[in-house]
Amino acid sequence: MKFQILSIFPNIFDSYLNESILKRAQAKKIVQFKIHNLRDWTKDKHRSVDDAPYGGGAGMLMKIEPLYAALRDLKKASRVKPAKRKIILLSAAGEKWNQGKAKKYSKLEEIIFICGRYEGVDARLKNFIDEEISVGDYVLTGGELPAMTIIDSLVRLLPGVLGNRESIIEESHSEVGLNEYPQYTRPEIFIAGRKKYKVPPVMLSGDPKKIKAWQKKQQTKIK
Ligand code: SAM
Repeated sequence: MKFQILSIFPNIFDSYLNESILKRAQAKKIVQFKIHNLRDWTKDKHRSVDDAPYGGGAGMLMKIEPLYAALRDLKKASRVKPAKRKIILLSAAGEKWNQGKAKKYSKLEEIIFICGRYEGVDARLKNFIDEEISVGDYVLTGGELPAMTIIDSLVRLLPGVLGNRESIIEESHSEVGLNEYPQYTRPEIFIAGRKKYKVPPVMLSGDPKKIKAWQKKQQTKIK
């Protein structure tokens, strides 16, 4: 799966995408990341990507021309069929990202992300994208963290990325509306000050049926 990202801060991605599971997924050629500096599609000597909004108002807006030119070039260079590709604008006002969407979109071959900055983008960009996606009901300074959040949630679902497929099947959100059950590791008794925190006895019983039943009972509804 290929992820292309348009951002005016391309360096932001360097460390996160090149560590741990995402790094290994690239090494195994399961995923490919292409980070593009939107300023490469500007034509003026200041490489400007923003301008004041018509009608006034606080802050600046991202201009449509560099974004349009970048999308045009990325689409032209892509070998992926449009049905297997999505162009996503990260937006606080977009549709909410969730595990269901992550499962659906993990079947795509390519996603192009547009990371907004300033007060967002010229509204006409909506004519050239497939979707606006939000990662939650709050406003961030840019779309880079949302893009990485979405990428991370997708990559771990791709076959061959996680060592143990069970971890995907059994974790939070995998059964609609249910959280993962509590889990414990050594020591059996953890002492903090005068208090002792014990692992539930059933987990030490060695009885897989009892353990499964207990775990099922522990799964809570997502608030
Ligand atoms: N004026 C915009 C509004 O009221 O929705 C907020 C702009 S925000 C400061 C700059 C950029 O950050 C947005 O264009 C978007 O790309 C990104 N962004 C901020 N919050 C986001 C969220 N919750 N989900 C996805 N992207 C977000």
